[in-house]
Amino acid sequence: MTALQEPVALHPAPGATGPLNDARTQLREATTLLGYDEGLYSMLATPRREVTVSIPLRRDDGSTELLVGHRVQHNFSRGPAKGGLRYSPDVDLDEVRALAMWMTWKCALLDVPYGGAKGGVRIDPRHYSQAELERVTRRYTSEISPLIGPERDIPAPDIGTDEKTMAWIMDTYSVQQGHTVLGVTTGKPISLGGSRGRATATSRGVVHVALAALRSRGIDPAGATASVQGFGKVGRYAARFLAEAGTRVLAVSDQYGAVFASGGLDVPALEKHVDATGSVVGFADGDEVPAEAVLEADVDLLVPAAVEGVLRADNASRVRARIIVEGANGPTTPEADRILQEAGRLVVPDILANAGGVIVSYFEWVQANQAYWWSENEVEDRLAERMLAAWGSVNEAAARLGIPLRTAATVLAVERVAQAHQLRGLYP
Ligand code: NAD
Repeated sequence: MTALQEPVALHPAPGATGPLNDARTQLREATTLLGYDEGLYSMLATPRREVTVSIPLRRDDGSTELLVGHRVQHNFSRGPAKGGLRYSPDVDLDEVRALAMWMTWKCALLDVPYGGAKGGVRIDPRHYSQAELERVTRRYTSEISPLIGPERDIPAPDIGTDEKTMAWIMDTYSVQQGHTVLGVTTGKPISLGGSRGRATATSRGVVHVALAALRSRGIDPAGATASVQGFGKVGRYAARFLAEAGTRVLAVSDQYGAVFASGGLDVPALEKHVDATGSVVGFADGDEVPAEAVLEADVDLLVPAAVEGVLRADNASRVRARIIVEGANGPTTPEADRILQEAGRLVVPDILANAGGVIVSYFEWVQANQAYWWSENEVEDRLAERMLAAWGSVNEAAARLGIPLRTAATVLAVERVAQAHQLRGLYP
């Protein structure tokens, strides 16, 4: 048997950790419930394509540094691949594979006509100038450009990237093509083919399902309490929209620290503080608390909106929030899921809760391809409609099958992807 014929190690090894193991454990549970065979599981557990590129960067001081980047296309049976681009020192290929797989399920669950992809560059963007980040982005784009395009794979912002990054990717790709291709990225500036409502879409969606989840447990959002981990593109607006709904946000954190106010933080004032200082730390109208206090706060609602694997076997039993709504991708490990389930906590899974971003990315791509732009109200209404419809169908499936929301969401999504495979048939 040649190396190429060796079976791929698709089964999470006992005791193994990390997002790819978590994603495959969730998939295994869904394919078992659906009665799928090992061949189909293996196909769905494995990315369709992946590329690793080296990115030589000329630093501002004239020296050269070599960075590494990845783009993984997990599946495109339902349409072009879609997924964010992450700039973080923690990026590795297995993490990108897991995030790409979750994108496939998210798009299928929300009935957005895409497959899943994800990209990452191992870099801490805080230590690089804007000019250096632009050179990194353009070189990375150039290396992956045979794989991307409006009909192939459409990047979007994620941790450490933003609308400027998307504008640079769009420009680099367009220069190579010889004409402007607005539909190659989403999350662009509005003046450059971005969609109204995209910057806040993920958080809007998180809050739509968070309010629905609170009401489903008989808790009035006006007067409820919440804590939010992460104060970036997702966490910040989630905190803002929760506060606007009357929910008191007692605690928030970022990678530098956490703040707490028993009567509720003044979120607009906190946003001003973050704009001025770059962190929630040092906010005058709150007390500094240890980072874990945000995850363990005695609140109705917890929104993890930072990174993967923050709710684990070692801390899940200390979570006191009645409801956890996953703004981040993969914040809860399968062991933590079991502990939270046994403790009667309601976990609204990432592939449902944070899908608002990809929904409005889809709207942006539709608008860019038609060169016809929608009003903010139109975007917001269509976003709310899709989020609440998915919330309804996941709850219905969970009740019908007697399974947690995550398993129900994964089953619905995996079934749609498997159906697409079946209808298309296996080539050759
Ligand atoms: P971001 O870079 O804008 O913000 C990340 C935030 O998390 C920052 O405030 C950072 O300080 C904080 N953080 C990082 N590590 C932390 C830690 N250990 N503890 C506490 N805070 C920490 O990124 P983002 O776009 O807001 O993404 C956050 C999460 O949401 C990621 O899991 C991402 O994949 C997911 N997500 C993002 C979008 C989107 O549209 N941006 C869509 C869906 C899902």
